[in-house]
Formats: sequence, C-alpha cells, structure tokens
Amino acid sequence: MSKDYEVVVVGGGHAGVEAAAAAARVGAKTTLVTHRDDTIGEMSCNPAIGGLGKGHLVREVDALDGLMGRVADQASIQYRLLNRSKGPAVRGPRAQADRKLYKQAMQAAIAGQAGLEVIEASVDDLTVVNGACTGVVLSDGRTIGAGAVVLTTGTFLRGMIHRGEERVPAGRAGEGAANALGARLEALGLPMGRLKTGTPARLDGRTIDWSGLVMQPADDDPVPFSFLTERIDVPQVACGVTATTPRTHEVIRGNLSRSAVYGGALAGKGPRYCPSVEDKVVRFADKASHQVFLEPEGLDDHLVYPNGISTSLPAEVQDVFVRTIPGLEDVEVASYGYAIEYDYVDPRAIRRTYELRALDGLYLAGQINGTTGYEEAAAQGLMAGLNAALKARQRPPVVIERHEGYMGVMTDDLVSRGVTEPYRMFTSRAEYRLSLRADNADARLTPLGIDLGCVGEERRSLFHVKQARLDVAGRWARATSLTPKEASGHGIAVNADGRHRNVLDLLALPTVNWGAIMRIWPDAASMGRDAVERLEADALYAGYLDRQAAEIEDAKRHEDLSVPRGFDFQALPGLSNELAEKLSHARPDTLGQAGRIEGMTPSALSVLLLAIRRHEALSAA
Ligand code: FAD
Repeated sequence: MSKDYEVVVVGGGHAGVEAAAAAARVGAKTTLVTHRDDTIGEMSCNPAIGGLGKGHLVREVDALDGLMGRVADQASIQYRLLNRSKGPAVRGPRAQADRKLYKQAMQAAIAGQAGLEVIEASVDDLTVVNGACTGVVLSDGRTIGAGAVVLTTGTFLRGMIHRGEERVPAGRAGEGAANALGARLEALGLPMGRLKTGTPARLDGRTIDWSGLVMQPADDDPVPFSFLTERIDVPQVACGVTATTPRTHEVIRGNLSRSAVYGGALAGKGPRYCPSVEDKVVRFADKASHQVFLEPEGLDDHLVYPNGISTSLPAEVQDVFVRTIPGLEDVEVASYGYAIEYDYVDPRAIRRTYELRALDGLYLAGQINGTTGYEEAAAQGLMAGLNAALKARQRPPVVIERHEGYMGVMTDDLVSRGVTEPYRMFTSRAEYRLSLRADNADARLTPLGIDLGCVGEERRSLFHVKQARLDVAGRWARATSLTPKEASGHGIAVNADGRHRNVLDLLALPTVNWGAIMRIWPDAASMGRDAVERLEADALYAGYLDRQAAEIEDAKRHEDLSVPRGFDFQALPGLSNELAEKLSHARPDTLGQAGRIEGMTPSALSVLLLAIRRHEALSAA
C-alpha cells in the first residue's frame, strides 16, 4: 500500500494530540484521525490538570515543546501549587481548567501545527503486511497508508457505560464505543484485559447554596505550567468545600446492591487512588465524612464538578444522596455519574519506545496501555508520536530513562511491571525525585528535544537565555560569601570556624531564606523567580544530589546493558523456574528492566548479567 502519511495517529484525546503534534514537529507528514473534530482535547472527567507527580509530567511534556502546559495556561481558572510548604522536589503544579477554554485552546494548537491534518472518521481496522502495520481502515472502507500508526483510543475500546442496572455501549457519555478496533486487536493475539473508571454527576451551580460553604481561593501568585508562559491572564475563581454526611453514607450503603460496581456487573479493576464514593463508604467504613470539592467547570458555565463522589449508582439514588451533602440540599443534577469499563492492552506487550513487540510500526499510548489520567496519557502520546515519526523517517528511537524524567519512570514501570489497576503517577514512584523536579524539567529534557528537532525556535532561544541567566546566578551564589563574623553581624549564627559560607551554604540553613539574602546583598533582588527557585533547590539538596548522581552512575553501568533479542531464559542454569517464566513472559529489553521484575533477586540478576556477558563474548568472537 502506498504511504499517504508518515504517521497516522488514531484518537484526539490527551495522548493523541501530543502524539500527532510531536510527530509533526519532527517533520513527519502526520494525520490525526478521530471520531469528532469538536471533541479534540475533551476532558472526559474532572476539569483539572496537574497535581502531585502529574504536574511533573506536564512540565516534562512542556520541556519537549508539547502542548498540554501551554494550553492549560490559556484555560486554567484556579491555580494551586500543591505541597507549597514542602521541598521543591515534591511540589506539584495543579490547576482547574475551564473545560471549554481548554478544548478551544487545544483545537487551536492542533489547527496551527504545520504538517498535521485532522480527519474526522472512525478507525475500524489496521492493515498489516509482512508482520508490520502499514495503515488503518476507516469505517467507510477507505484505507490510509502510513509509515507508522499510533493508537490512542482511551476508554473507547469496547467501552461500556454502567449506571445502576443500565448498560450502554459507549466510549464516554454520548459517544459510541470502538468495538471493531477492539476485536481487531484481540484477533492480533495481544494480551488484553478490562479496566474501569468512573465519574460523578454534574451539578447545576445555580441551585447550590454557597453561603454556608468554605471557599478555597486560587493562589495569589499562580505558577504557570509552561516554561514559555510569563503570566496568567485568565480570571481566577474559588471552589467550594463540603463533605458527605452519615446520612449520605446510609443512603449509599442501603443501595450498594444497585451500584454497577458493587452489584457485581463490572469485572474490570478500578483506580484504587481515585475511588468511587461507594468504595469510600465500604473501605473506610469508620469515617463519618469524606471531603467534596465543588469545582466550577468554567467561567461562563453554571455546571459544577463535585470532586470526590464518582459513582455508578442508579440516577434516582444519586439524586437522593447528593442532597444529603451540606450546600447541595436543593441541588439539581445536570447529568448523572457513571462507571465505564473498557479494554486495555497489557503494557508489557510494548517496548520502551511504545511500539508493540508483536507488530512493527504500531505504537500504543494513553489509557489503552492501562494508565489513567490526562497527564499520563499526554506524556506517553508525546513519546509514542516522536518514536513513530523517527521510525517512519528511519531515525534511531528515543527513550527517556528513569533518572532523566518521570516519563522514563512511567515507561519503565509499564513495560517491565505491567498494571494490575489503572496506573497513575506519584512522586513516590521516582527513585531520583530530588533531581527530577518540576522546576528543572526544562534543564533535564529541552536539550534532548533540541537535538531531536521537536523543540521550536521560541522555546530554543528562551531556553538558552534562561540557562545563561541561571549559570550566572549559580556562579554568583558560589562566589559570594561571608565570614562567620560577617554572618553573625547579619544575625546568622554559624560555627566560628573561620570558614567562608557562600550563598548556597547560607540558603541551606533553616534560618535563612531568600529575603535574608536580599537584605545582605540588595542586588540579589533583581534575580528572576526561576533563578531563585533553582538556587534554593540546589542549596537544599546539595549533599543528597551528589550522592544521587553517584547512585545514578552506578545503576547506569548495568541498567542499559541490552538483553539480546530472543534470549532463552529457561535455558539459564541457576534461575528458579518461576523467575525464568516471569522473564520469558516480560522479555525485558535491558538488565535494568529485568531487575525491576517482581520477585527478582540480586543473585538471579548476577546469573543473568554473566549470561549476557557470555552471549556478547560469543557473538563478538
Ligand atoms: P481519551 O481522552 O479517552 O481520548 C480517546 C480519543 O480517541 C477520543 O477522541 C476518541 O473519540 C478517539 N477514538 C477512540 N477510538 C477511536 C477510533 N476507533 N477511531 C477514531 N477515533 C477514536 N482519569 C483520572 O485521572 N481520574 C479520573 O477520575 C478519571 N475518571 C474518568 C471517568 C470517565 C467516565 C472517563 C471516560 C475517563 C476518566 N478518566 C479519569 C480518564 C481520563 O479521561 C483519561 O485518562 C484520558 O482522557 C486518557 O487520554 P487518552 O488520550 O488515552 O484517551
């Protein structure tokens, strides 16, 4: 089949838009095929971007010139930097978005991307020639040839909505499921399973009694997602905070058998970290109340998203239980919550490039890989889109390692461990989190993006200017110091050991903040916020960062050692049958991945290391 495009991306959700835009940025002729133009960038569930761990992913996507951060900055109506009082490594930028503004800004970004076309259609099938995916077949029978295909079909693969006893085949409320494509993937012999997720009712904000509720305002100084955004111009709003009551729990408990999730109608596993209200009432039976955030869906929208009460109870039960919540006594429900069950592909079936092991040229990204969340989807989409384009252009693939980014952590977790429930990002998943901070994502990844050609001119020049500024600030901070006597003259107590303390040493003291530094050296007041943040983080983590760098070097020595393709783990003496089986199933690409397989022991890893070395020596001979 002739190639119409170098890259075809299927699905215009959060993974799809990043995949398509990234492929086009590296110069591949790309098309985004999606059910509906007007749902490109749709937020299926809560209108919010970022959070702990997730905010790091948004910054990393942005560092590679992805869209999510820039778009969120054009649409966000309540910024909050989470963990503000904790160390910079675990701070998470988060914002509630105006759902319509977000979609509009994303659609404008896609329309403005050179080399990218959008086709409104449903993909029902794939074309496969000699074990490689060569394109897609649309529901009207047309085919589109491609050098590489990226599937980002979200919750649509054989999606089924459940609400009480109701069952509706759908990808999300009001949109049909992708049944033919789901069946096609199964026919390819891919390991597949079912997962589920859920969403709460949407409320008419005009019928909420806001007067007695605690209101949570936005941050006074919103911290943007994108390294390109100088200032947030979107008006900021507050959200209301309320909570479930013993009466709410009573109503829910009395109707558990009617919940799709608890009535046993749903087999798929749901996200443990984002439980339904039924889950909360059952699992935390001793808690009399659970917090509910009433988040406006937009600036000119009366809909309110009640964050914390996702449910699959019948509509009439939802009507009753929401009205037991303070402030919602007379609320009108605009649309009812539901659970959705859908197919996913076991991500151990993909390589670290997001290409399927079993089918060359086919890449998977987003919810289809068993993850949940817009940010997780966006980060995978970006990497899959880049790799699809690199493959189509016969260029070497790109993989981000665990020590380079949360993206690398997620990729490695997915391909080496698979998922047992929808996977979402947390800072605790990253072993090198002191160096993988949201504030330095550009320093970590933008140079790679520049090398790959996926970073545009504006970001490239801003990045170089900023790095030069940070270098100057760093040199100044290391070269500018006080003697103990001078320090004590400024009210800073240090040991009288004659040793000079430079600005970083001083900032590492719990009693010294940037305000104190500016009082001693008034010129420091002209330093930009980014430079100050970097200096504070470097000072705080100085000793740990050195130790971490040594650990990374140590891990890297063996981490990247490739396991030969088709390696026979069963033939390895000294490996238990169970581990040999797990390795044969997981087929790790590197020794590092093998080490993270559940149950792997140091001695088994040594056996594997020796065997790989032997194999290398034999191949070289
Ligand atoms: P999606 O955003 O689902 O996009 C898929 C796109 O593919 C759509 O544009 C669709 O039209 C298109 N498409 C699918 N099949 C085809 C085809 N065959 N041909 C053409 N186009 C196709 N995440 C959380 O983090 N927390 C939550 O609480 C949460 N709750 C959720 C509740 C519900 C009801 C739903 C539906 C999702 C929820 N999510 C939640 C998940 C979140 O929406 C997803 O993680 C995220 O949208 C995944 O992005 P994606 O790009 O993989 O897929």
